[in-house]
Amino acid sequence: MKKHNFSAGPSILPEFTIKNTAEAVTNFAGTGLSVMEVSHRSKEFVAVMDEAISTVKELLHVPAGYHVLFLGGGASTQFCMAPYNLLKTKAGYLNTGAWAAKAQKEAKLFGEVIEIASSKDKNYNYIPKKFDVPSDLDYLHLTTNNTIYGTETKTDLDLGVRLVADMSSDIFSRPVDISKYNLIYAGAQKNLAPAGVTLVIVKEEALGKMDRAIPSMLDYRTHIAAASMYNTPPVLPVYAALQTLNWLKNNGGISTINKKNIEKAAVLYDEIDSNKFFKATVEDPEDRSIMNICFVMQDEYADLEGEFMQLATSKGCVGIKGHRSVGGFRASTYNAMPKESIEVLVAAMQEFAAKH
Ligand code: PMP
Repeated sequence: MKKHNFSAGPSILPEFTIKNTAEAVTNFAGTGLSVMEVSHRSKEFVAVMDEAISTVKELLHVPAGYHVLFLGGGASTQFCMAPYNLLKTKAGYLNTGAWAAKAQKEAKLFGEVIEIASSKDKNYNYIPKKFDVPSDLDYLHLTTNNTIYGTETKTDLDLGVRLVADMSSDIFSRPVDISKYNLIYAGAQKNLAPAGVTLVIVKEEALGKMDRAIPSMLDYRTHIAAASMYNTPPVLPVYAALQTLNWLKNNGGISTINKKNIEKAAVLYDEIDSNKFFKATVEDPEDRSIMNICFVMQDEYADLEGEFMQLATSKGCVGIKGHRSVGGFRASTYNAMPKESIEVLVAAMQEFAAKH
């Protein structure tokens, strides 16, 4: 039976990515070798890295003065690398979830950190809107999409302060005005590639301003100077990333995928809002993520949760269990998720309602 992969991450990737990467695992670029066993300094792999970097720039319209890097260490390493390189005296953090809070905790090792706003009071089920931002911040950090709670800041904030953003779970899902950011980072394992590589977009001008010594591996300038080859990059995930980037490009780029993502998410939110058995955990449509859609049983039907899970599983839906801190269900609808899979989940919800 066809599986519909709603996992939050690692998560669904385009068939194009999986098929091409599988081929390169046996014969990479006609070398007769696996992509897993070639030198990262071979001309074939250097070409992959160069093309991946230039395709990120093309898809996201990265302006001049920014560098694109592919690093190891996951988004979690960026929680410390960002302040190590960019926090001179004071940074602001928006606390919109567990990942945002982890980023904030790391920053405190490097300077003064101000929590600008928090939605922790309601288990992070909304995006704080009204807050003051001091004008003397080195940067304001935000997590644009909160994977666990299904909230998303879908626009690039205009607050008169440079932004640093964790875009791990919504990078490439919508157009981004890169010029508002000093730094963007994203673990690959949602919209890009298998786990193991982290995308970084950093503004040249923001670097080199710290008094502290920065260890080479944690200094963005090291990786810029070495074109992401200072140490051995995660070769296979970078190869897969290039396939996903090309898939995006072949399918109309970011604005096209954004339209599809909005349509896809609407199909599921509409069902959640109209089906009397379910309710969305995020009420304000403005805050609702188009990548992670969280919903629970209405209180009076709470005891039917297991039964719905069973039904959805029997239809091939995988990975819809909500995060333990939210409960219920979470359907992750990343770029590669076809609308048909969402329709299968919606049909299961309708079948469930008809039965009860
Ligand atoms: N930020 C966000 C928004 C996440 O969803 C995750 C989980 N993938 C992380 C950071 C942590 O990423 P990693 O596991 O790559 O360190």
